[in-house]
Amino acid sequence: MRFIRDIFREKAAAGKPVISFEFFPPKTAEGDVALLTKTIPELKRLRPDFCSVTYGAGGSTRDKTLDIVDRIQREHGIPAMAHLTCVNATQEEIHSVLEEARRRGIQNILALRGDPPGGQGEFHKTDGGFEFSYQLVEHIRQMNGFSIGTAGFPEGHIACTGGKRVDWDRLKAKVDCGADFVITQLFFDNRDYFEFRDYMRAAGMTVPIQPGIIPILGAAQIRRFTQMCGARLTPQIEARLTALGDNDEAVREFGIECATAQCRELLAAGVEGIHFYTLNKAHSITRILQNLGIGDA
Ligand SMILES: Cc1cc2nc3c(=O)[nH]c(=O)nc-3n(C[C@H](O)[C@H](O)[C@H](O)COP(=O)(O)OP(=O)(O)OC[C@H]3O[C@@H](n4cnc5c(N)ncnc54)[C@H](O)[C@@H]3O)c2cc1C
Repeated sequence: MRFIRDIFREKAAAGKPVISFEFFPPKTAEGDVALLTKTIPELKRLRPDFCSVTYGAGGSTRDKTLDIVDRIQREHGIPAMAHLTCVNATQEEIHSVLEEARRRGIQNILALRGDPPGGQGEFHKTDGGFEFSYQLVEHIRQMNGFSIGTAGFPEGHIACTGGKRVDWDRLKAKVDCGADFVITQLFFDNRDYFEFRDYMRAAGMTVPIQPGIIPILGAAQIRRFTQMCGARLTPQIEARLTALGDNDEAVREFGIECATAQCRELLAAGVEGIHFYTLNKAHSITRILQNLGIGDA
């Protein structure tokens, strides 16, 4: 398969954005079948450049994440990336996950610290583990043979008490440890992304900063997600969601409209690509890319 850093390079040379889709490992065997035989084939028509698969809280999906990445590559021929976190794992355990990834031909890793188990409270390093993602980036870089992505936060990381610029300086440091590209946390106001990108460029960071976009699928769900990760819904979005109430179909249509407008502005501003948080659903992503005239939708 291919290194994602090379994909970014080639698409930039062709003047085209890198389009990627993120999935989470389903909890059931039926969910696996639906993802691999229905959702991904549907989304494959849009010609994604790569896909990525999350790593469950507390490292709970260790094998499942690698299995799905492996199947996306072998059964669908799409380059794929495994997310990997430092939660509940010693350095040796993390090393063995990476060796297993390598054995399966997985060459792309999104190196993350992860959230505290349960998503709440302070993160505590496992004895013999890593405390911050930059240490994981360094470890993977020393192993050779992987293209490494890292997470960036246009509004600053939720737990960074020093403010967003302190968090952004730390991002610069983790990229300097060997990351090839950044994928951002979801956000809804492009001004947050532009301020973040301009700051990182002024700090001398040259790797791609791929914005992460989520189509709103439900009002309660997006309020929960944004609260968990510290992203802000704009007042306009909040007002529309309130007005639409529990009309789920209308909320989903609004989500498509919002994400389309957001992506259109980002692409016009020359972003290197868009990473879509698909939530394992094809409909909204297909409509958004149709609206943007990307892929074979
Ligand atoms: C694109 C994307 C994908 C994600 N996928 C997953 C997933 O699959 N599974 C999952 O569990 N979570 C995932 N997350 C969530 C992520 O794990 C959490 O946001 C986590 O809290 C931070 O991870 P990080 O890699 O940014 O951590 P770090 O880079 O380690 O940063 C964590 C905190 O520590 C601070 N910090 C960093 N370096 C230092 C330092 N040297 N000294 C002091 N403080 C420092 C930062 O400012 C920040 O507040 C994802 C996030 C994004 C944006």
